[in-house]
Amino acid sequence: MGKQNEMSIRFDSYSANEGFARVAVAAFVADLDPTLDELADVKTAVSEAVTNAIIHGYEDRIGKIYLTCAKEEKQIRIEIVDYGKGIADVAKAKEPFFTTRPELERSGMGFAFMEAFMDEVAVDSSPGHGTTVRMKKRFGAGEA
Ligand code: ATP
Ligand code: MG
Repeated sequence: MGKQNEMSIRFDSYSANEGFARVAVAAFVADLDPTLDELADVKTAVSEAVTNAIIHGYEDRIGKIYLTCAKEEKQIRIEIVDYGKGIADVAKAKEPFFTTRPELERSGMGFAFMEAFMDEVAVDSSPGHGTTVRMKKRFGAGEA
């Protein structure tokens, strides 16, 4: 086992900070030499999870979002936490095309993208308390 290397950031749930979070993770994992496709996958997954915390978790208020990323050899683990409104039915929320905000032109594909682009996605949520999304990905999984 190699040494684990972890970073954490905390930022306010302004939509402008979604880009910051995505780039922060991409910069942190860059030394693992991901392919451009792998890096794009991670950025998309982070973007979807952080956007969800901003628009669904905190809705019209500004709260704190906590993002932790750990890397070990070619594996990364990302955790995104909000203390917003939470999800009543996680299984339903994960279904493709399910959205509680159709009026915002949401397509309900955020969790589907996270699951498609990462190796593992686990969602822990409790209504009124918040949501934690944990994701894992191994770079170079397609190599011999
Ligand atoms: P899209 O991501 O395609 O713009 P969406 O955000 O509605 O649309 P998903 O990201 O798949 O779709 O999320 C599905 C639903 O899960 C959301 O509509 C929302 O009800 C709920 N949800 C997701 N993340 C959170 C969160 N952090 N806090 C509260 N509710 C959430
Ligand atoms: Mg979403």
